[in-house]
Amino acid sequence: MTAPRKITSKDIEQELRSRQRYLAQLNDITRTSLEAVDLKTMLQTLADQLGELFDADGCFITLWSEEEGRTIPTAAYGDLRETYPQQIISSDEATMTASVLKAGRPLVAEDVFNSPYISPRLAALFPTKSMLGLPLIANDQKLGAALISFSQTHHFVPDEIERGEQAAAQIALAIAKTRSLEIEQQRTAQLVRANNLIAALSSVAARIGNISNPGIVMETLGYELKQIGINCIVTLQEAGSTQFTIQYISIESNLIAMMEKLAGMAIHDFRFTAENLSFYKQVVINRKPVFAIEVSEVAEPMLKSLNPFVVKQILRLVLSDTLRSAYLPLIINDQVSGVLMLWGENLLESDMPAISIFASQVAITLENARLYAEVQQLAITDVLLEIYNRRGLFSLGAREIERAQRTRRPLSALILDLDFFKKVNDTYGHASGDEVLHEVAQRCRSNIRGIDLIGRYGGEEFAVLLPETDLPAAHIIAERLRTAVADTPIATQRGGGITLTISLGVAALTASTPDLATLLRHADEALYVAKQRGRNRVEVKL
Ligand code: GH3
Ligand code: MG
Ligand code: MG
Repeated sequence: MTAPRKITSKDIEQELRSRQRYLAQLNDITRTSLEAVDLKTMLQTLADQLGELFDADGCFITLWSEEEGRTIPTAAYGDLRETYPQQIISSDEATMTASVLKAGRPLVAEDVFNSPYISPRLAALFPTKSMLGLPLIANDQKLGAALISFSQTHHFVPDEIERGEQAAAQIALAIAKTRSLEIEQQRTAQLVRANNLIAALSSVAARIGNISNPGIVMETLGYELKQIGINCIVTLQEAGSTQFTIQYISIESNLIAMMEKLAGMAIHDFRFTAENLSFYKQVVINRKPVFAIEVSEVAEPMLKSLNPFVVKQILRLVLSDTLRSAYLPLIINDQVSGVLMLWGENLLESDMPAISIFASQVAITLENARLYAEVQQLAITDVLLEIYNRRGLFSLGAREIERAQRTRRPLSALILDLDFFKKVNDTYGHASGDEVLHEVAQRCRSNIRGIDLIGRYGGEEFAVLLPETDLPAAHIIAERLRTAVADTPIATQRGGGITLTISLGVAALTASTPDLATLLRHADEALYVAKQRGRNRVEVKL
């Protein structure tokens, strides 16, 4: 036995200096904890400081996922500084973290290879012989662990363990603080986003107040949503059908063109029913919004009928990997009339209440625009004949005249009148007369181009405006219309087949024609000549 060594003043001085150094380091840990905002950087700094505090070979800080029961390697000091945070540890593996959190107190593994606290796989991963595990617990919440390791056998003395506990308490508090700060930041960001959505909505509402065109409503919607990093697709159910068609996609037109080329069809021709598509089914049948995260889930409804390779190409073009999407019912008159799909990297499930309100506003706005356009269309349409009425003829015709005058392009007009139509009414009745009138209008319409304009000029007189058409060409078209009526009897419900003819007058716009009314008067004068010369013929105003 050796006599106890006498304690000298030099020993005391050394002990004091060591304590001072320790206090300074603990102070550093406290400061790091207080100043940190970002969890990852903070834990890295703490791992470095803790490692130095203990003069250890390694220091590891883990986080604990309570839901998954899993250890998440987060920061390391020593040789594994870079690689440790990339480790994935499954929930069934024994870890020092799980062990100390279960025990609720520090645990020591003097030989990690023969310790129940840590799996042999993990023990082999670290260049470690002895390890001290310190639980990180704050407010009864299991947050993770700090592990201090030595590559040679190390006897942890009570003083060391006590210092570790003090440091761990600081770290746990820091994690808890940072977590609540992060949650707070997330909440603020969510509020900002919700506010942006509501601001975008009111901006849309303000802009579309006077828009009668649903297409422009959707363009505006797409533009406003883009400002907050959200893309959209509007699909509407076709009237009297279960099929949906894509009405609008807020991606650049050249991307759409590429998609159309890959898919081999135009976006607007792409039709699908809700039954085939899981999200649409949910949205249309339950009328509830759906939030989705996986790209494949989105790809499925949109592109089911296409070849998988094409689908992949299209998705690469349009969507990002971190796609989050929302499917919202557009409810009009208590019926789902369409689906608004939104997607964006920042979209969160927590945005759904705000987005749902947004979608209901979009539905109302779209419906109003559609109704408005319909009313406007009705105001310029002859319901009986399904061509423009006199008002439509003159307001749309005036635009054509202006354009032709401005661009110095040719434009011609036809006026046609049914021959002896009074006799048809007298012989077969007014109802049969109506049928004849309708059929003549339709035969004329199907014998002119889409850009030509046909309207009712008077009782049984129609006017036709032919842009980009000079007098000789207009003459040919007039002949075509004449034979289209004269050559085939018109079937009526009560009067049977009725044979009848029309007379036509043709006039072309000249430098001296001031307006539409004058051009039509000229055509009318030619028509008068045609009637004079025996009817069922075309005359030209020279
Ligand atoms: P023509 O033009 O060859 O000189 O003889 P017409 O018998 O056709 O004479 P006119 O053009 O003057 O006749 C117009 C007739 O068309 C009078 C009117 O009863 C009839 N009419 C006008 N609008 C309608 C309509 O909406 N439905 C029916 N059934 N008849 C109409
Ligand atoms: Mg007539
Ligand atoms: Mg007439």
